[in-house]
Amino acid sequence: MARRKDELGDQDGTLVVQPGVEQPPSVSSEQVERIRRARRRRFSAREYIDGILSGDRTVLAQAITLVESSRPADADIAQQIVEECLPHTGDSIRVGITGVPGVGKSTFIEALGTHLTRERQERVAVLAIDPSSQKSKGSILGDKTRMEKLASDEMAFIRPSPSGGSLGGITRRTRETMLLCEAAGFKNVLIETVGVGQSETAVAGMVDFFLLLMLAGAGDELQGIKRGIMEMSDLIAINKADGSNRQKAQVARREYENALHLFPPSETGWVPRVVTCSAANREGIDAIWNVVREHRGFLDDHGMLEARRQDQARQWMHEMIEQELQTRFRNDPAVKSSLEKYEKAVSEGRISSFRAAKLLLDLHQNGTK
Ligand code: GDP
Repeated sequence: MARRKDELGDQDGTLVVQPGVEQPPSVSSEQVERIRRARRRRFSAREYIDGILSGDRTVLAQAITLVESSRPADADIAQQIVEECLPHTGDSIRVGITGVPGVGKSTFIEALGTHLTRERQERVAVLAIDPSSQKSKGSILGDKTRMEKLASDEMAFIRPSPSGGSLGGITRRTRETMLLCEAAGFKNVLIETVGVGQSETAVAGMVDFFLLLMLAGAGDELQGIKRGIMEMSDLIAINKADGSNRQKAQVARREYENALHLFPPSETGWVPRVVTCSAANREGIDAIWNVVREHRGFLDDHGMLEARRQDQARQWMHEMIEQELQTRFRNDPAVKSSLEKYEKAVSEGRISSFRAAKLLLDLHQNGTK
């Protein structure tokens, strides 16, 4: 490759010094140490809680990092923060938003988010669940260009999904993050999922309203969206209803409306709606939020919001027990030291899976007595 003469030096081999940019005065080692100390400094649980309750986004973000941490020392303080924030939660509208990649989720959330902060003067938190990101080694919100405008809005708080960990672990952290956001005064919490995995069921278990974004005429009728996901949706919005796509979107709307009639009625008695929108042109966004509010009114009128949340909390307790039991079992030294032996015995057919499972469970149980 040809290199410029001034990069290599003069022809006689002497280097040509290029005038450089003036450098700022170097930072003293004392300053570096001060910065390091400040970084290391951890707040007390009380300081985190007060910061969150006063709506401080920086403290909120740091507390969420504790919630996401896998260090046992962080788990204790995170738990304390979540517990103390709990009485200050529950007031917000929790909305799950799903749809296949490319349907326009981030465009939609940016449009809805700015509608909430600018037109309604309400604060909004956006969280994401994307367990598949472990494979692609990136979070769905990791791309900085997504929701750029909303990200710089001081009435908004965007938190990408933590990468790594099991779905159970990710949903636990998302749920706790949601609670902390509520305690920090975010009246609307939008939780985004990618619409193709089990994460939707997990999200449906923590929100009040579930919104499914779809496309018109995208070939495969349900676009890889499982029937179960449609069934748990309170609203289906056909996105990209703009330009030459407008009419197709109307046709799709009617089709989905008909399809929804075939589903059994939802537990709450709410009849799911189908609408069209254009996230890119910001059309239909306010109408969608009106449906969300109407649904909230519906739940309130029928005394179902409390019941739903209590139900979710109970289910959550059971899930936490199951997760914790599994962790304890797998971390039990007695189990760890025998697991391989039993696995081998099962593979070689010397012992049945049932018997091996029972023996390992007994081993654990005896150790905990
Ligand atoms: P996500 O993967 O579901 O988050 O989808 P994105 O929000 O990244 O959108 C995928 C592509 O669809 C982008 O190129 C968007 O500009 C485009 N898009 C999103 N919403 C609309 C819309 O309402 N109309 C049109 N025409 N394009 C849209």
